[in-house]
Amino acid sequence: MKIYDRLYIDGQWTASSDPGFIDVTNASSEQVMGRVPCATAAEVDRAVAAARTAFASWSTTTVERREALLRRLHEGLLERCDEIADTVTKEVGMPIKLSRRIQAGLPAMVMESYARLIANYPLEERLGNSLLLREPVGVVACITPWNYPLHQIVAKLAPALAAGCTLVLKPSSQAPLSAFILAEIIEQAGLPPGVFNLVSGRGAVVGEALALHPEVDMVSFTGSTATGKRLTVLAAETVKRVSLELGGKSASVILDDADLRVAVKGTLGACYLNSGQTCSALTRMLVPASLYEQAASLAAEMGRGFVVGDPFSDQTRLGPLVSAAQRERVRNHIRKGIEEGAELLTGGPMAPEGLDKGYYVQPTVFGQVDSQMTIAREEIFGPVLSVIPYRDEDDAAAIANDSIYGLAGAVWSGDDERALSFGRRMRTGQVDINGGQFNILAPFGGYKQSGKGRELGKFGLEEFLEIKSLQM
Ligand code: NAD
Repeated sequence: MKIYDRLYIDGQWTASSDPGFIDVTNASSEQVMGRVPCATAAEVDRAVAAARTAFASWSTTTVERREALLRRLHEGLLERCDEIADTVTKEVGMPIKLSRRIQAGLPAMVMESYARLIANYPLEERLGNSLLLREPVGVVACITPWNYPLHQIVAKLAPALAAGCTLVLKPSSQAPLSAFILAEIIEQAGLPPGVFNLVSGRGAVVGEALALHPEVDMVSFTGSTATGKRLTVLAAETVKRVSLELGGKSASVILDDADLRVAVKGTLGACYLNSGQTCSALTRMLVPASLYEQAASLAAEMGRGFVVGDPFSDQTRLGPLVSAAQRERVRNHIRKGIEEGAELLTGGPMAPEGLDKGYYVQPTVFGQVDSQMTIAREEIFGPVLSVIPYRDEDDAAAIANDSIYGLAGAVWSGDDERALSFGRRMRTGQVDINGGQFNILAPFGGYKQSGKGRELGKFGLEEFLEIKSLQM
C-alpha cells in the first residue's frame, strides 16, 4: 500500500480539512493499492495563495536557475524511474516494459527537453521601435487525467516552471500516485516553497474551485472534451487563459499502394497502446474497398495475437483498463457496435478467457463500420478498432475529417510524397506518415473539439508566456 496522507502546499506536507481519502485501485487485482488526501476549496485557497506569493520572486529568477532546477528534476525522475513505472502499471494497466519507456521514461525526457529549450529561447526581441518581452503568464492550475498520468503532468509543469510560472496541480483521482512521487522529487530538488503545490481531490470540487479562482491566471487541462467545455465556461468568469488537450477519434488512412501488413500492424499497435487508453489512438482504420477483405482479415488475425493478461508478465501485450467503470463503458460500446450492425471480426464484450478479475477487455476489431455508427464517432478509450472501407481518396479524406475531433491521424503509402499530400488534407494536429515516430519537440494538440493550444517543445512553452511590447 502506498499511503499519502498529506497535500503539498507552500513547501510543506499538510493535512486536508476533509478527513476523507481517495482510494487508488490496482487495475489487475481490483484491490486497493494506495490512498491520497481529498482536498476541499479551503486547500485550493491556501495553495493558490502560496503560488501567488511565490510568483513574485520565481517569475524573476534567471533562466540559468530555472534550467538548473529542471535538470535536478530530470535526475530525480531518472533515479525513481523503476518505482514510477511499477506504480503506473499497477494503477493504469500498461505492460511494465512499455511503462518503463513511456510512463516513466517519457516524462524524464520531456523535463530535460525544457531545460535545454529555456536555455536557448529568445525571451526578448526587437521589432522596429519596440522591445518585445515574453513574460510568465502567472499562477497556473494544472488539471490532469489518468492514462499517462506523469507524462501529462510534466508536459505542463516543465514548460510552466521554465517560463517562470508557479502552479497548483490537481492530478487524476484514479492514478494520482506518481504525482506524489514527483512532489517528493520537487521537494528534494529545492524548488522554493509555493512554486509547486499539489492538491489531490475530486474534479467537481478541487478542479472547479481552481477554474473559478480569481487568483489563478491560467488553466491548463488534459482530459475529456466534456470536462474541458465545463472548465472553459467556469474560467470565462475571470477571463483566464485556458489550454485544453482533449479527446480524439483519429483515423489511420491506408492508401492503395501501401504495404498492407505494415500499415495494419502499425495501426493496430497505435490503437491498442495502453489498452486503447490513449487520446491519440488510431481507432478508425480506413482502407480502399478493393483491399477491404485482406485488410480486415489481417487486422482480425493480428488482434487475436495480442496476449491479454498480467501487465507484469513478459508475454503480455494488453493489460487491463484503469477501472470497472471504464471497462463497462468500453464493453457497452462493443455491444453498441454489434447492435448497430458492424461486423465483429474478433473480440467482444465478454471478459477475456480466464480473466474474470481485473479490468480486462478483449482486443476487438469491427469490420464494415460506417461513419455514422457510434463506434466510429465516439471516443471509446479501449482496445477497439473499427475498419472502414472507402471508395477513393476524396472519400477517404471526407470520412477521416467527418468527426468532431481532430487530434491525430496516420497515412500509409508506398510513396512518401503521396502520403504527405494526403496528410495535408487531414484536419488534425498531428499526422504520422508511414509510421513516423513520436517527437517530443513537435507540437501536440488538437483541432476542433480535441482542444485548444499545443503542448511540448517551444509551442508548449509559449502557452505559458504573455507578450509585452515596450515602444521606444
Ligand atoms: P476527465 O475529464 O474525467 O478528468 C480529467 C481531470 O479533470 C481529472 O483530474 C478529473 O478529476 C478532473 N475533473 C473531472 N471533472 C471535473 C470538473 N467538473 N471540473 C474540474 N475538473 C474536473 O478525463 P479522464 O477520464 O481522466 O481522462 C480521459 C480523457 O482524457 C479522454 O477523453 C482522453 O482522450 C483525454 N486525454 C486527452 C489527451 C490529449 O493530450 N489530448 C491526453 C490524455 C487524455
